Amino acid sequence: RKIRVAVVFGGRSTEHEISCVTAGGVISAIDTDRYEIVPIGITRAGEWTLSSAELERLAIVDGRLPEVDGSGPRLAVPFSGAADLMVLADGEAPRPLGGIDVVLPLLHGPLGEDGTVQGLFEMMDVRYAGAGVFASAASMDKIFMKTLFTGHGIPTGRYVAVPDRAWRGERKRVLDDIAELGDTLFVKPARGGSSMGITRVADAADTDAVVAAIESARAHDPKVIVEAAVPGREIECGVLESLDGGAPETSLPAEIHVAEGFDFYDFQAKYLSTSTLTIPADLPAEVVAEIRREAARTFEALGCEGLARVDFFYGDDGRVYVNEINTLPGFTPSSAFPQMWAASGVDYPALVDRIIQTGLRRAPGLR
Ligand code: ATP
Ligand code: MG
Ligand code: MG
Ligand code: MG
Repeated sequence: RKIRVAVVFGGRSTEHEISCVTAGGVISAIDTDRYEIVPIGITRAGEWTLSSAELERLAIVDGRLPEVDGSGPRLAVPFSGAADLMVLADGEAPRPLGGIDVVLPLLHGPLGEDGTVQGLFEMMDVRYAGAGVFASAASMDKIFMKTLFTGHGIPTGRYVAVPDRAWRGERKRVLDDIAELGDTLFVKPARGGSSMGITRVADAADTDAVVAAIESARAHDPKVIVEAAVPGREIECGVLESLDGGAPETSLPAEIHVAEGFDFYDFQAKYLSTSTLTIPADLPAEVVAEIRREAARTFEALGCEGLARVDFFYGDDGRVYVNEINTLPGFTPSSAFPQMWAASGVDYPALVDRIIQTGLRRAPGLR
């Protein structure tokens, strides 16, 4: 029989729509001679549904973003090992969905890219592609991520952690620490993605602007990180787990050119503008080599599996800085991650196949 691949998308994070776009791309590239696709859409409210009716609509059309509308039959999720998901169609007796060989958790952001759903799949004894529980959680949390970078000697910019309790109880100390970071700041929810909740503060001396930026990040996450801006060029690099147990493989890097009129690569600039990529990035060979080496080191430092995209700055000071790692990078055919791999000899269908294969080899439980 065909290998049954559950594609899980949507979800409860603010990146719901982007996850749907990712799923639309991946589903259209899965080789249906070898794999049977089981599309599972999670609504914004967190309901799991069997989502086949929505597949054609999983794309950005005329600037409109898709979503899981919850019209499909609901799924009951079991928590015990090797139990089937149950399909609860209106007016019908509950029926088992049937065994799933591997899950592609195409969920971005909290409650999807952060180890939570990965933990659920571990409990269910089902194989899944991509990073495991710890790697997902550590990569989603920019503060823990930076702590691990430091421990591994991975170059990264300066920052101040602003957890909820410090913001409520030690605000003056926090603001004093932030004042040491320099003129231009990036204020981010510690656990987020797609630039949601991020503000660039051009004048750090403007305390009201800093406070407003922190409050706006806190609307996404009570834990905030404030970073010193790194002046330079923005570079990304794709990483794939090797299929033969060797070192992770890295793609040719891409340079991001943010569209005119944007101060940084914010949500609009990312998905709804004319921002472009140069692949391969036009950089000196030794810088490319350093970026690829640091991308692989970052993947291993975080204990990632399957795939990841590492985001860099090539500083005006000539140094390479790791900004962050994403364990489920944007994955439509036009996203940076697939484009970088296409330029490196792995086309989109081959990339999707490779990620399914790494998931199939990943036995549940401790590795
Ligand atoms: P995604 O997961 O979609 O890549 P994210 O929400 O995790 O994004 P970041 O990648 O950390 O957010 O930041 C978003 C953008 O903000 C970056 O692509 C860059 O344009 C800008 N940016 C973030 N931090 C800095 C910094 N320290 N210095 C300069 N620019 C920054
Ligand atoms: Mg990110
Ligand atoms: Mg992300
Ligand atoms: Mg990023």
